[in-house]
Formats: sequence, C-alpha cells, structure tokens
Amino acid sequence: MAALTSFALLRNFGRTGRIVASVRASPGLSPFPTSINFLTANPPRRYLCRASAKHDEEAASKAAAINADTGAPTIFDKIIAKEIPSAIVYEDDKVLAFKDINPQAPVHVLVIPKFRDGLTELGKAEPRHEEILGQLLYAARIVAEKEGILDGFRVVINSGASACQSVYHLHLHVIGGRQMNWPPG
Ligand code: 5GP
Repeated sequence: MAALTSFALLRNFGRTGRIVASVRASPGLSPFPTSINFLTANPPRRYLCRASAKHDEEAASKAAAINADTGAPTIFDKIIAKEIPSAIVYEDDKVLAFKDINPQAPVHVLVIPKFRDGLTELGKAEPRHEEILGQLLYAARIVAEKEGILDGFRVVINSGASACQSVYHLHLHVIGGRQMNWPPG
C-alpha cells in the first residue's frame, strides 16, 4: 500500500463531552487531505460529521450496513473459499487470518471466523458464540507472535456503521509494527 498518513486532534470539553478531529491523507495520490472527520461524543448524544471525503469510509460503511442483516455473502466468503487470493498468516479449522488489503500499519491482519453463524458484527453476538469469540482472540495472539509484534499490538473490532464497519462478517484487526496512539480516532 502506498504510505497512508493520518493524524488526529483531540479537544476535551470538560464534562460536557469531547471532539475528535482527524485528517487522513494519501500522499501517494494527492498532496491534499482526503478526508476530515469530526466526532463529538457527549453521551447520550453522539454526532459523526464529515467535511470533504474522497475516500469516504463513513459513506462506505453506511452503504455496507444496508445489507448487514440480510445475511448476504461478503468478500470474506470468497477469501475463505479461496476464490480470491489473500495473504494468509494463520489458519485452522475455525479461524482464518489474512493480511488486510489496505494496511494501516506495518502489520495489519484480519482474523475472521470461517463460519459466520450470524456474526455479521460483534453487536450480534449471542451466548452460542462465546467459544468462537475466544478462539478469534487467541488467534489474534498467534498472529501477533507470527508477525513479531507480541511485545505490543492492538486488536480492533469495528461493530456497526457508526464504528465504520465496512464488511459484515465479524473480524478482528490485529495491528502493530509501529507506535500506536491513544485515543483512537
Ligand atoms: P472494517 O472497516 O469492516 O472494520 O474492516 C474491513 C477491512 O477489510 C478493511 O480494513 C479493508 O481494508 C479490508 N478488506 C476489504 N476487502 C478486502 C479484500 O478483498 N481483501 C483483504 N485482504 N482485505 C479486505
């Protein structure tokens, strides 16, 4: 992937809430920022606004969310079936881990259940999913070890459109190989 750069600005508004502003740029494509996000979290109200978007993750995730509950196949079904190629990092009978096509760090691996079983997103998890959820998390640890980032890595699950989930087949992002920042954007 061409180097993606991003930076985030955080302003705290005391007890009233917070605003997170982030700018992402794809310098290989354009010298200009490609998107600007403003996230205001002031429970129970939450606003997600965006000015300017070439690569509009929010719009893409909202579009994907339309099919979230239909059980429609996703691109990950084709990856599981090996109908489209992926760089597999780890695989067993329940779990597949492969490199993200658009990595956000030197190491960016997706860990998914081979059998979705209704787990379009973490928010849909039910008691019957406890075992596979544990297996996915342990697989994330295996991936981190294989990728040489066991000393420090991040596991992210985006659940739902407001978290910018774009593929409705539960997946863990295992990210590392660079210094992570907190809070996330
Ligand atoms: P989400 O935004 O749903 O949390 O994450 C979906 C991830 O899947 C994104 O990071 C995206 O780059 C990745 N992705 C989407 N399509 C493909 C694909 O065809 N191959 C691979 N390896 N990753 C994909």
